[in-house]
Amino acid sequence: MNDKGRLIIVTGPSGVGKTTLLKRLLEEYKDKICFSVSHTSRKARSNELNGIDYIFDTEEEFKNRIKSNEFLEYAVVHGNYYGTSKHQVQKVLDSGMDCLLDIDVQGGTYLMMNNIKGIYIFIAPPSIDILRERLLKRSTDPVDVIEKRVKNAEKELQFKDKYQYIIINDKLKKAYNELKNIIFD
Ligand code: ADP
Ligand code: 5GP
Repeated sequence: MNDKGRLIIVTGPSGVGKTTLLKRLLEEYKDKICFSVSHTSRKARSNELNGIDYIFDTEEEFKNRIKSNEFLEYAVVHGNYYGTSKHQVQKVLDSGMDCLLDIDVQGGTYLMMNNIKGIYIFIAPPSIDILRERLLKRSTDPVDVIEKRVKNAEKELQFKDKYQYIIINDKLKKAYNELKNIIFD
């Protein structure tokens, strides 16, 4: 990977607040940080746009990209494929901007284990009950999907100490300030 821009890897369980925090960050630092839009085989939610939130592939398209070695990392998360495009990341880093990844714990750990240089940040919930409440309140997934995500969260949280930085997203403002301090201090 090129060294002009920095790779910022943000991970943590579904519903912890990654999208909320990162949207704020990208809005405030438009000229410094660029988001790497992942590919997924998951169906788009009603509020999501192709090419903005994700590149929505069919499972077949996704598998073809795996064969063509297009991903820096990919994983099956909650039953769907998700992957980071090597090409997109390289393009951002070459431009001198920082490249931001919002990926699951397996993906983040994979990059770390493969010595991909970056700033590794784990966002954790104040508790599992609060995480479940956030997923329910977000109302984007059926209850069985939410329960699957909460179950996965318990496993994912076991990896948090491997990360360089851990932020507990309790009060949003405080968590956001911690995130900015990590990236820009
Ligand atoms: P993720 O991207 O990690 O799946 P989201 O950013 O979609 O999580 O957040 C899940 C839900 O929790 C959203 O409805 C969001 O508004 C809410 N949320 C995020 N951070 C906080 C916080 N600190 N306190 C209360 N609710 C939050
Ligand atoms: P959601 O379906 O809620 O958008 O995302 C589910 C999980 O997939 C989240 O934890 C998110 O961080 C993760 N994810 C999104 N894109 C990628 C990716 O490119 N690679 C990996 N490994 N995980 C991803």
